[in-house]
Amino acid sequence: MSSMFGKPRASSERPAQSPLPECNVAILGCRGAGKSALTVKFLTKRFISEYDPNLEDTYSSEELVDQQPVLLKVMDTADQVRHWGGDDQLGHGWTMTGLQLSHSSPAQDGPGNCERYLCWASAFLVVYSIDSRQSFEGCQRYLEVLALHAQGCQRRCPVLLLGNKLDMEQYRQVLSAEGMSLASRFGCLFHEVSACQDFSRVQHVFHEAVREVRRQ
Ligand code: GDP
Ligand code: MG
Repeated sequence: MSSMFGKPRASSERPAQSPLPECNVAILGCRGAGKSALTVKFLTKRFISEYDPNLEDTYSSEELVDQQPVLLKVMDTADQVRHWGGDDQLGHGWTMTGLQLSHSSPAQDGPGNCERYLCWASAFLVVYSIDSRQSFEGCQRYLEVLALHAQGCQRRCPVLLLGNKLDMEQYRQVLSAEGMSLASRFGCLFHEVSACQDFSRVQHVFHEAVREVRRQ
């Protein structure tokens, strides 16, 4: 963990010769879905309601997952608002050149220049907000990008689809069944969470990502 939250969580002393196994988790999704809120909740157990939407950073936390230590690195991404459209063969304006996914064209929030996390991550959390259908649709594009990347490099990283803002049930626009169905279409796990409610539920999804990486 760095700048945004001060010191990392306390951890036991480890001999320099035995580095912790690492797990790199990138959090993706449209702006406003709650990526930063979930990251901060996981790292500090607190809900902080306002962040700079452009802030992108990577934090580290030593975790015990099933009694085994791991250095969990979390990249809280902040893709710039991007534009979509066009009728290229991949749809949504995405093109693929070798392992490079790039995007060129007009009009919505979604994945921008994604090489930085595609190459880095060992698992992905793709987040939408249950009270925003637009964020759910944005998620599908992220899942498509991840699927294309997995095809291109023949390395399939675990992906977890998260419906965030479960506390906003009364404004729900996306049914749990729709989340489940999208997740199963892309072979992902699916959870609904809230960054402003129960910490253990948020912790659980990050730990699930580690378990999935270990299973590979
Ligand atoms: P990001 O752009 O995906 O990083 O989204 P943020 O984490 O900055 O959150 C966007 C807005 O949604 C902020 O006003 C947050 O306070 C709010 N928010 C995030 N998570 C939750 C949640 O679980 N419940 C509610 N009610 N609001 C949330
Ligand atoms: Mg953010």
